[in-house]
Amino acid sequence: MEVKTSLLDNMIGVGDMVLLEPLSEDSFIENLRKRFDHNEIYTYIGSVVISMNPYRSLPIFTPEKVEEYRNRNFYELSPHIYALADEAYRSLRDQDKDQCILITGESGAGKTEASKLVMSYVAAVCGKGQEVNKVKEQLLQSNPVLEAFGNAKTVRNDNSSRFGKYMDIEFDFKGDPLGGVISNYLLEKSRVVKQPRGERNFHVFYQLLSGASDDTLKKLKLDRDFSKYNYLSLDSAVVNGLDDAANFRTVRNAMQIVGFMEDEVQSVLELVAAVLKLGDIEFKPESRCNGTDESRIKDKNGEFDRRQTEMCELLGIEQSVLERAFSYRTVEARLEKVSTTLNVAQAYYARDALAKNLYSRLFSWLVTRINESIKVTRHKVMGVLDIYGFEIFEDNSFEQFIINYCNEKLQQIFIELTLREEQEEYVREGIEWTNIEYFNNAIICDLIENHQNGILAMLDEECLRPGTVTDETFLDKLNTICAEHQHFESRLSKNSKFLTDHSLPHNCFRIQHYAGKVLYRAEGFVDKNNDLLYRDLSQAMYKANHSLIKQLFPEGNPAKVNLKRPPTAGFQFRASVGTLMKNLQTKNPNYIRCIKPNDKKASHIFTDSLVCHQVRYLGLMENVRVRRAGYAFRQAYEPCLERYKMLCKRTWPHWRGPAREGVEVLMADLPVPAEEFSYGRSKIFIRNPRTLFFLEERRRQC
Ligand code: ADP
Ligand code: MG
Repeated sequence: MEVKTSLLDNMIGVGDMVLLEPLSEDSFIENLRKRFDHNEIYTYIGSVVISMNPYRSLPIFTPEKVEEYRNRNFYELSPHIYALADEAYRSLRDQDKDQCILITGESGAGKTEASKLVMSYVAAVCGKGQEVNKVKEQLLQSNPVLEAFGNAKTVRNDNSSRFGKYMDIEFDFKGDPLGGVISNYLLEKSRVVKQPRGERNFHVFYQLLSGASDDTLKKLKLDRDFSKYNYLSLDSAVVNGLDDAANFRTVRNAMQIVGFMEDEVQSVLELVAAVLKLGDIEFKPESRCNGTDESRIKDKNGEFDRRQTEMCELLGIEQSVLERAFSYRTVEARLEKVSTTLNVAQAYYARDALAKNLYSRLFSWLVTRINESIKVTRHKVMGVLDIYGFEIFEDNSFEQFIINYCNEKLQQIFIELTLREEQEEYVREGIEWTNIEYFNNAIICDLIENHQNGILAMLDEECLRPGTVTDETFLDKLNTICAEHQHFESRLSKNSKFLTDHSLPHNCFRIQHYAGKVLYRAEGFVDKNNDLLYRDLSQAMYKANHSLIKQLFPEGNPAKVNLKRPPTAGFQFRASVGTLMKNLQTKNPNYIRCIKPNDKKASHIFTDSLVCHQVRYLGLMENVRVRRAGYAFRQAYEPCLERYKMLCKRTWPHWRGPAREGVEVLMADLPVPAEEFSYGRSKIFIRNPRTLFFLEERRRQC
């Protein structure tokens, strides 16, 4: 069987890892490297697309390329993200199957770029006409808006998404886009008040200060100089290749296209300005004769006071109301209100909590507002998920814990929809098949999310418990209960995922995630999960004479005092991940696995160890093995006969019998060993992609 195709060129490696001989981790990585060196950034594992970040612009995303991939079969051309997008779009349009595109990989691996490529491909190939074009524009322009408010420069990525995003694009029966719905997940709001060394705050702050007109800045009472603001890090305020001023214009324009009114844009910018000003309010201690420590806003009648006045003016809040809210904390019990004074540390805590809440609620409001513009009743749906990848840092905190939990759930979906579904299809079709063992990470998900004794439930329990609650008491509880659990588990299986050993550093716990062991520092878990904003502050915000800010703090309405504590951050996240999983399970999955070749953000550098690490935790080797053990390709009898009937005189041009028999006659006529095919109830299964390339090649020669 002679096969000549770009998928099998020795120089540039194999296009589908299923073809790799021999298969080992080394050969897998070598193949990726070979292809990367030849600018082939895409490689398949069956229908899964591996994408390597080239860190430079390649001429492979042109309108001509879109035309090339349009309406072509997946295996016909060299691997490309467009092939996956086309396949997903066509099965949505022609077979009525809702699709989801799941994009995973670590920070900087190219997920967000991949999601934009998929969206722009679909926009390019689906319907035309004025109305349709308007919808497309709105869907695409939601990206710059959300990126301005939700992305930041980090050590790993100059445009790192600090939130998870899932977008359903909705189509009518003809396959023309009608609109969409965006869901956002867990914005990293701690960044608003503090950024790690070498990183920046969210882009919008710098964009506004660099790009807004003098007039706008004057209205917002802002100064162009970044260095004036406590919340803006200085060591990396200017990023090479990032034009904040130009991006500000792009964002303003995008907001207009998406449908924001001018006064809404103004309100949004006012809140952004207010957050900056909030960071500049400082406090000083004031000792009272009764011995308590209270805090006061520093420098009464001076510079700090001016900033506070300006902030209050921007938000329409009376200064005395804000001052009081920064000085007291009122706890309401059933029958009485108790106010205690805040000391300086508590006042700073309250200030930062307010800034984080203001900003993150503004972000959620933006998503809701965009949805109002693009929402329609659902018909056919293509979902695109661009969510943070697995994070294993030296120092892992609550954020990493939550992000990694989300990735465990995505791995579950992968197992459920791909590995299990694959095996079930063989059974359904009556194909003989020996099950392949794969590691099922359900046990890890359970360790984290179990409603009774999962780590999140324990954290919640601890946060709600009266008495002194600290990260240590949480950790103690975890150690006691998980150790018991583990004891119980270990009788059932040897795979307990909560690792206790004596080498653990103080104040840490370790989890064996599917992607590797991760050490979490318990410090801050309780506080971040509590996500506490003193009621005095939400009530002060609710009193603001500013329509947007009032909307953002509904719990501040004194008429609606709810003594129940708002759900914790962990609880909310678990619930939204649950909803997302349910949504994904109803759709046909398409996978893009992103890999970053080096951690210098550089083109042309391929670091084996780094790639190897990602290949491992993305479970790519397991993926190839299951794929190789099974059948690379399957197709219903009718379309298969239609596509290849020209290869056999007895079926060409008109085959009169049933399609299945036609396919059997056709395949028997070709120089391909019989064990390459299996005939299922409704489909033919082809074991090796090589066979498929061979069929395609013959077809081209006809
Ligand atoms: P992630 O979302 O996975 O954190 P991004 O998609 O933001 O990563 O990619 C990080 C950076 O890598 C981008 O800002 C861009 O410079 C570069 N990059 C990613 N994908 C591509 C691509 N296909 N072509 C060129 N550059 C890319
Ligand atoms: Mg991203």
